[in-house]
Amino acid sequence: MTQDPYEILGVSRDASADEIKKAYRRLARQLHPDVNPDPETQERFKDVSRAYEVLSDPGKRQAYDRGGDAFSQGFGGAGQGFSFTDIMDAFFGGGAPGGGQSRGPRSRARRGQDALIRLDVTLAEAAFGVTRDLKVDTALTCETCDGEGTAPGTKPVACETCHGQGEVAVVQRSFLGEIRTLRPCAACRGFGSVIPDPCRECSGDGRVRSRRTLTVKIPAGVDHGTRVQLTGQGEVGPGGGPAGDLYVEIHVEPHKTFTRHGNDLHTTISLPMTAAALGTHLTLPLLEADLTSTAETPDEEKPVTTYDLDVRPGTQSGSEQVIRGFGVPSLRGGRGDLVVSIKVDTPTRLDPRQEELLRELAAIRGEESPDGQNEAPTRGMFGRLRDAFQG
Ligand SMILES: [Zn+2]
Ligand SMILES: [Zn+2]
Repeated sequence: MTQDPYEILGVSRDASADEIKKAYRRLARQLHPDVNPDPETQERFKDVSRAYEVLSDPGKRQAYDRGGDAFSQGFGGAGQGFSFTDIMDAFFGGGAPGGGQSRGPRSRARRGQDALIRLDVTLAEAAFGVTRDLKVDTALTCETCDGEGTAPGTKPVACETCHGQGEVAVVQRSFLGEIRTLRPCAACRGFGSVIPDPCRECSGDGRVRSRRTLTVKIPAGVDHGTRVQLTGQGEVGPGGGPAGDLYVEIHVEPHKTFTRHGNDLHTTISLPMTAAALGTHLTLPLLEADLTSTAETPDEEKPVTTYDLDVRPGTQSGSEQVIRGFGVPSLRGGRGDLVVSIKVDTPTRLDPRQEELLRELAAIRGEESPDGQNEAPTRGMFGRLRDAFQG
C-alpha cells in the first residue's frame, strides 16, 4: 500500500485544489461505507480520506511536498485540522439532526435509491449458477457537471432568504408567548444555496438516466424469491451522492420433470410392471442434463448428466429411492438429495398370448381370486406429511 497521498487520490503533484477535491469526491462516492460496507473497502476509504486531509490543507500539503511524512501527524483520531466526520459531513451531509436544534444547511448529496429487478432462470440455472447480462435502467452521475448540478464554470450561490443557513426562524404568537422555531428554508429547500445556472444535461439533479448492461453472476443454490444484492449498482444519489444497491430477485421457471423441495430434487419415473417385479438397471437423466456445455468445454468440466439407477426386484409402486448428494447445491456448501419416486405401470392392453401368460402366473402364485385387504396408510408422501403434522 502506497503512502503517497497523491498516488492514493490518483492526482498529479501539481494538481489544483479543485482537481484534488474532485478526485476525492469521485473516490469517496465509490468507497463510501453506505455503498461498500466490506472492511477492505472501508480501509481504502479511510486511506483516501486521510490523503485528502493532507492534500486539501495547504500547510500540510507543503510540509509533505518538502519531504515530510504525510501521515505522521494528525491521524488516528485526535489531530489537528478537520476530522474524518467533518469530511463526511462536508460531502454527504451530517447525521441525524438533533431535535429542534439548528441543523444548518443540508447537503445536496444523498444516497441513491436501491433498485430491484426480476430475473427469470431455469431450475438448472438456479441450482448450478449462471452468469447473465442484465439491462438496467438507472441513474448515473452526470459527467457534464460531475454530479454537482451546476453548469460548467458556475457555482452554487448562498441563498439570500436564509443567508446560507438552510433554515429560517419562524416566530409564532401563542398564549404561552412567542415561540421561535427553525424551519427548513423554502427558497433553497434547506440546501443553503441555490444553483443559478443549472447543468443543462441533468437539469441540476447531478444525475442522468441511462441504460447499461451489467454482467451478473448468480451463485449456485439460489431459490425462487432469493434476492442477490449487488452493492453500489443501484441509482446514484442526487447531488453526486453514493449509489444505492441493486437487488436481483430470482424467479425460477417450473421444470418439466424435477421439482425442488429445499435443497432436494424430486422426480418420478414409471416402470413396466415386469421390470418392477424382476428388477432392472436404468439410466436416469439428471438436472445437470439441462446445462449447456459446448464442444469447447473441457471434458473434466462437463457435468455428469445421467445416473445409473439400480431398481431392486420387487420394487413397489409409490416407493422412493434416495440418491444422496444429487440434489441442489446449498448456498452454504454441500448438496441436497435426489428423491426418485417410482410409479409402476400396469399393462392395459394385453394380446391373447400375454393374457394367457399372466393368467398362468396368477394361477402359479395362487392369485386367481384375491381378497381385498384393508391396509395401513402407505408411508409415501402423505404418510410423511401426516407424521409431520402429528409430530
Ligand atoms: Zn449535470
Ligand atoms: Zn435558503
